[in-house]
Parts: sequence; C-alpha cells; structure tokens
Amino acid sequence: MARTLAPGATRAAPAAESSPRIFRTEEELAALPASERIRYRLVQAQRRYHANDNISAFVREGELAELKAEVAAKLHEVLQALVIDTDSDHNTHDTAKRVAKMYLEEVFRGRYVPMPAVTEFPNVERLNELMIVGPITVRSACSHHMCPIFGRIWIGILPNEHSNLIGLSKYARIADWVMSRPQIQEEAVTMLANELQQRVRPDGLALVMEADHFCMHWRGVKDTDTAMVNSVMRGAFLKDANLRREFLSLLPRKQQS
Ligand SMILES: [Zn+2]
Repeated sequence: MARTLAPGATRAAPAAESSPRIFRTEEELAALPASERIRYRLVQAQRRYHANDNISAFVREGELAELKAEVAAKLHEVLQALVIDTDSDHNTHDTAKRVAKMYLEEVFRGRYVPMPAVTEFPNVERLNELMIVGPITVRSACSHHMCPIFGRIWIGILPNEHSNLIGLSKYARIADWVMSRPQIQEEAVTMLANELQQRVRPDGLALVMEADHFCMHWRGVKDTDTAMVNSVMRGAFLKDANLRREFLSLLPRKQQS
C-alpha cells in the first residue's frame, strides 16, 4: 500500500532528502482537494510556489473551478471568524464567492494561467535606436497584506539586428500577466525584465515602475503621497550612462529626480 501524507505535510523535511520520495496513486490524488493535488505535483517536481510564481503547468483542466470553490469555502470561514452574519446580511451573502472569483480569475490570475501568446517578429529593419514603451498601467497586490498596488511601467529597449520585436500591446499583456500575482515591487520588476529579456533579446533593457501601495494608504501610516519607484537596467543601459540618462529624461514621471 502506498504511503500517504497528512494534508499540508507534503513538503519533504531536509533530513529526509536521501529517502525515497513519497508517491501517491492517481486514486489517492483524485480524492484530495485540488489545492493538495496541485501542491503534490509541485513538490514532486521540486518547483517553488511562492505567491509570485506562475504554477499553470501544474494545474489541470477543471481544477481552477475546484480551486475557486475551495477558496470561497475558506473565505466564508474568514467572514465567520470576523463575526459577520453572512446569512442575514445580504451585502456579504455572496462575498466569499465574489472574492474567490476575483482572486483566481482577475487579480491573481497571473499565477494560474500560462503567459499570453506573443508573436515575435525578426528585426528586418535592423532597428537599433532606443525604443520606449509606456506608461503601461498595471495593478498588482502586495504579498504582505494583499493590498492593491496601482502603478505605471516604462520599458526601454535597445534592439540589435538579432532581437525579436513584439507588438506594442504585447508588452502590456506580459506586464499584466506578471503583475497579476501577489508581489513585492522589487521582485515584480525583475521578473518582468527576465520575461522581456528572454523574448526580445535586446542589447539593452530598462524598466521603471512607479506605484502606489495601498498598504501605505489604507492601513499603517495612512500616507497618501508616497509612491515607490523601482528600476532595472540591463546590458547597454548599465554600461552607457548617456543611454540611461536619455531613457530617464524621456519618462514623464511625477517624481523625476
Ligand atoms: Zn503590504
């Protein structure tokens, strides 16, 4: 008989590294909640599943609907724990369901679906001038408080003759896919830069993100003016101070320094 694990205990302890991994039969897996099944596959593949990781390769058909129901049931418990009468309060009656749908299909969707298809074109015109895309409006959520983040992104590309070019709207779609996950901004810009670097393969890549964090407005210090700015500079933008200055001078940002 196959060994089974208690729910939530699927992560192997470091001491057990050399012992054989625990396998489950398909029947055993099918009896588990979808989240346990997906987690099992991730652990077997030794893949990270932090809040800002995309796990779409481990989610099978129909499981997103199962996850949505699971999350709704847990959110219902959160409302109960907050002592909210969801039975007679018509405003909160369907809140658990609505929030579960919002998490899985909208604001955290970038964790569960593969990257949108992007057509790449060879650089037939051999463009090698600085290209700036933006501002791209993005929304995300902080992984510390699950509070909204609203921001704008500018992307600078210095293509070479071997670069692949992608349509302007595709930058926005890739950005949305990366941002629609619980994040911290510093990691979000790095992830987006990695995705673009892989696809476009430019000589230089620059990325600036300026965002309002609602954990600063809605809670905590209740500061309403602070925006956070992060940038990533790669290749030619790192080596060439003039190029970097040119890019930064062309951004119509609020806080230009
Ligand atoms: Zn936060």
